[in-house]
Amino acid sequence: MVIAIDGPAGSGKSTVAKLLAEWLGYLYVDTGAMYRALTWKALKEKTDLKDEDALTSLSRQTEILLKEEKGKLRVFVDGKEVTEAIRGESVTNNAFYIARAPSVRAELVKQQRRMAKENNLVMEGRDIGTVVFPKAKLKVYLDASLKERARRRFLELKEKGIKTDLEVIKKQLQARDKEDKGRKVAPLKIAKEAFVIDSTKMKIEEEVDLILRKWREKYGATKSGT
Ligand code: C5P
Repeated sequence: MVIAIDGPAGSGKSTVAKLLAEWLGYLYVDTGAMYRALTWKALKEKTDLKDEDALTSLSRQTEILLKEEKGKLRVFVDGKEVTEAIRGESVTNNAFYIARAPSVRAELVKQQRRMAKENNLVMEGRDIGTVVFPKAKLKVYLDASLKERARRRFLELKEKGIKTDLEVIKKQLQARDKEDKGRKVAPLKIAKEAFVIDSTKMKIEEEVDLILRKWREKYGATKSGT
């Protein structure tokens, strides 16, 4: 059983996917963390980010582990914890090199599909409903206005004690949207049969509720996911 959640940066996918997974007793998978983890390693090893062959061999030699503990996602690269490090600005701004390389994506998609062999999943990213699991039981495309996404990101950073500028965040989100929607391989787009939610004026609980209702309509799912 897979629930696929896609959408642009800052649309609230992670929060919604995490709550949904918790409610259903499914495994939560943040695929963005995998792209980030590889970007982190490429930066650390000073791999040429424009060299697709080098990035591909890096992806084959890297062990990425996503571990959930008490509702918090922990990320490990070759056994080293990088949970906080992968959220930094340089990783965020360079992840598109990894994301646009077809053979690197193929490698990560292989790993993502493997996860579904042993678990029921709520998986979030940019290409889950279009490429990774086009036959997912439920596909959701979560969106929100640029202004609202920027506002959410601003508050998130403020809570962490990081001072930023709303306009700068807006510009960064715009640039990431352009990269994600414009790349040749697996661009961000609404998957066929996806349930589209504009969360601009919605509360998190309302979004989760809406998705769960949709899920129950289809499968009569209960808390244990049966
Ligand atoms: O979701 P998050 O913003 O953490 O993802 C980091 C980057 O990884 C994104 O900017 C996006 O380009 C890329 N990504 C992707 N495909 C996915 C998940 C993330 O290309 N399934």
